[in-house]
Amino acid sequence: MAPPYIGRFAPSPTGPLHAGSLVAALASWLDARAHGGQWLVRIEDVDSTRCLPGLDQTIRQQLAALGLHSDQPPVYQSQRTPLYQQALSELVASGHAYPCGCSRRDIELALQHNGQVKPRHGELIYPGTCRKGLQDKPARAWRFNTQGQPPLHWHDRRLGEQSQDVALDVGDFILKRADGCFAYQLAVVVDDAAQGVTDVVRGQDLADNTARQILLQRALHLPTPRYLHTPLVLGPNGEKLSKQNGAQALDSAHPLAALNQAAAMLGLAGQHALADALPNWVAQWQGLYNRSP
Ligand code: GLU
Repeated sequence: MAPPYIGRFAPSPTGPLHAGSLVAALASWLDARAHGGQWLVRIEDVDSTRCLPGLDQTIRQQLAALGLHSDQPPVYQSQRTPLYQQALSELVASGHAYPCGCSRRDIELALQHNGQVKPRHGELIYPGTCRKGLQDKPARAWRFNTQGQPPLHWHDRRLGEQSQDVALDVGDFILKRADGCFAYQLAVVVDDAAQGVTDVVRGQDLADNTARQILLQRALHLPTPRYLHTPLVLGPNGEKLSKQNGAQALDSAHPLAALNQAAAMLGLAGQHALADALPNWVAQWQGLYNRSP
């Protein structure tokens, strides 16, 4: 019997699907189909400050126009906050998470004091001030305690062997923000486990989150799925194509053209007819990315 497979595509409704996000959608769909598995769609609207109303429907219509149909009704993160709260409480109880009362200014000052202002992707590495307690400050956010965590090593089905020292390179990352919003890292780990996801296939821009997610899975005693990060589509300026830098929405009137473009990024041969395209690519996908390293 084939090993069970559950995959997912997890768009944030901050913009319509574009050529870049379609690569991840198509790859995750093909991988699920090539393994006789299920493919789920999860709307990642946990950060309501970034989501635009109606875009969930736009994305669902775009996927349907491309022939990428979810095997179950889509799950919405905005409806799952009790699950994230439960996971956070568990992490606090086991000593893996702690409340933090520091403002950005407090963090800047502490880092300056230690002589180590070293932003990472524009983010300051938290100096660990509240790890030993809030010292009368009110709790603003909750953080994962990375202290003492050894460097992580894992296998990516496309990128090969990966490693990251989260304590050193990322620091104590946020699980729940000062505005009460749960962080992507926590929500994605809780949901992947709750939905039984065995294989995460997503864009390479997200690869850097994997180590944090594995730490959370271990702390919560959840299984770690397999990971496959897909190639990024670069815009004319050489930057990753993203909603933020104005990527064009997919033209649902020409689904074959959009699919052919995404397939080319995945090294799949171009197709002339929409009806044959997906089945031919499923066949081409078989054996492309091994699931057992
Ligand atoms: N919601 C994330 C995004 O749209 C993807 C999360 C994931 O696949 O893990 O960038």
